[in-house]
Amino acid sequence: MQTCTTRAGLGSGLECILPGGYWTNVPVQEAFAAKSPYRLRHADDRFMLEHDALGYVADVTLSPRPDWYTRKTTTGKPMTRVGSLQGTYLGVYPSKVCEYWLEKPKEHCRFCSVGLNLGADDADEKSVKEVVEVVEAARRESGITYVDFNTGHYEGDTYLDILEPYIKAVKEKTGLLIGVQTPPHHDLARYKDLRRMGVNRVSFCFELFNREKFVSICPGKNRQYGLDRYLEAVEYCATQVPETGRGFEPWVTNGEIIAGLEPPEDSIRAIDWITSVGAIPTVCVFRPLVGTDLENGAPPDTEAMIPVFARLYDACMEKNLPFGIAPNVHVSLVMLPEECRWLSDRPNRFWFGELKRKVMRKAFVRQFERELQRAGAETAA
Ligand code: SF4
Repeated sequence: MQTCTTRAGLGSGLECILPGGYWTNVPVQEAFAAKSPYRLRHADDRFMLEHDALGYVADVTLSPRPDWYTRKTTTGKPMTRVGSLQGTYLGVYPSKVCEYWLEKPKEHCRFCSVGLNLGADDADEKSVKEVVEVVEAARRESGITYVDFNTGHYEGDTYLDILEPYIKAVKEKTGLLIGVQTPPHHDLARYKDLRRMGVNRVSFCFELFNREKFVSICPGKNRQYGLDRYLEAVEYCATQVPETGRGFEPWVTNGEIIAGLEPPEDSIRAIDWITSVGAIPTVCVFRPLVGTDLENGAPPDTEAMIPVFARLYDACMEKNLPFGIAPNVHVSLVMLPEECRWLSDRPNRFWFGELKRKVMRKAFVRQFERELQRAGAETAA
């Protein structure tokens, strides 16, 4: 779940925007990409997506490279070593590499690539000041609305202790929406504290709902936490973390899985379980990254993924979950529930729910802008 040349430890590739504003990360380096029927052609200042059989499909845009990507913090660190855009939000991995990569024998998740740069990343801890500087630059120049803090596993469940000073400072200085993605802390009450601090999203990556696959693909997570602890944390955060009295502080819980590493029926079971407790699934597609233990694995068939993503939309709508509400949050590595609507057999079935989402989104954006102005005014004061 680290950001570098790879995205979130399970993606790499070219950041593109498809027609309709769909941000996507297109695999280009891996061997399987050469077998794709799609090609990206550059001519006359245009990037064109073409298909071997269909010919021209659409124009696409490469995601913009912001000016702050070439700048350094006041401490002299390249800003991109502190945080990087993932779609339109800022991802920050403030601490050292996930300790599963340091175990002997290693216990890292088999699809993951974050420890492949071990050594380079080791010396890469970031100060609170550096993170705030980069968040402010990304807010000013890239218009981010959301900052996502991410850690791997650290012995003694220290990840929340590590993140809290960053969370407090970023919230106080910017008022932006904040998310946290870490393993499930043994003291679940800590998630109430996080919400009081201004965290708006917690995400738990259990990756696989199939228990046998979980054991074989995520040995560290299995030994240290077990699937049930992940599920318990998802359910607790979705049902037991109350309003904070801070005013406008939305709160969502995500359970994250990787489709393509287990049968589609298991991914669908995971989606149904996550939504049944009031959480929102985040569904990535398995990508066999170069250098990982699964680099010779095959990515899943596109056709097999369609029912999974159709179910993602339907299940979120059936449960009336608040997704797609925050402004300017486009994610390139996953398809968001709202982006899956047209894969559903009956995309207009939830017309009333869609109307409600639209109204909620409008109200949310208005309130959020007021909050940002207030935070800006306080910072300037
Ligand atoms: S927990 Fe697994 S996926 Fe996350 S950084 Fe560690 S090895 Fe990678």
